[in-house]
Amino acid sequence: MRDSFPIVNRPTGDDERMRPYHAIVCSICGNEATLSAHSTCIPASSVAAKFRKLGWLVRAVGKHVCPNCQVSDRNHNPNPQEGVMAPPLSLKDRLEQPKAQPAKEPAKAERSIAAKSAIPLLYMALDEGYDRAGQDYKPGYSDERIAKETGLAVEFVRARRESDFGPIRDPKAVALIGGLNDLGGLAIEFRALSARVESKLNELRALALKN
Ligand SMILES: [Zn+2]
Repeated sequence: MRDSFPIVNRPTGDDERMRPYHAIVCSICGNEATLSAHSTCIPASSVAAKFRKLGWLVRAVGKHVCPNCQVSDRNHNPNPQEGVMAPPLSLKDRLEQPKAQPAKEPAKAERSIAAKSAIPLLYMALDEGYDRAGQDYKPGYSDERIAKETGLAVEFVRARRESDFGPIRDPKAVALIGGLNDLGGLAIEFRALSARVESKLNELRALALKN
């Protein structure tokens, strides 16, 4: 019987006499409540109604919940329907939370788009600034400047320039070549000078022999 409540005899009152009670036991905390069972012929349904009036959640035998446990259960999970609502809320939170990050994602995408459109710019700049015949940048141009103007990495500019245009003469090599040219010029001058010295000496020798 679902709604049957055991009758227990308890010593109560000043005389400590055993009196019959209907007892209900909480299935959560084990708390017990009693109702005077003045008459054993009270129908179980009305006993249940009396316990309900006292705040008990009357269920099947062994599943009753006392008022205290109902309160703490409500505090634990204030509204069972909110528990159902919680996942969409947390999903919303999850969607709102990374809002700071989407700023990074488009920036990344923009950067790659920019990088794509920067390549034609790079080739235009190299075409304009690089002297293929002279194997060097024209004055004012450099990998660094083109990298800055196109937004590309200097290493990238250098690699593309070297593979598709040409090298940059090593300034040291340029200086060395310049130095060698200077020496060559000096050597020519020296040879010319020494030839003049030689001819002058010959003139003097001829004069000396005459006299
Ligand atoms: Zn309880």
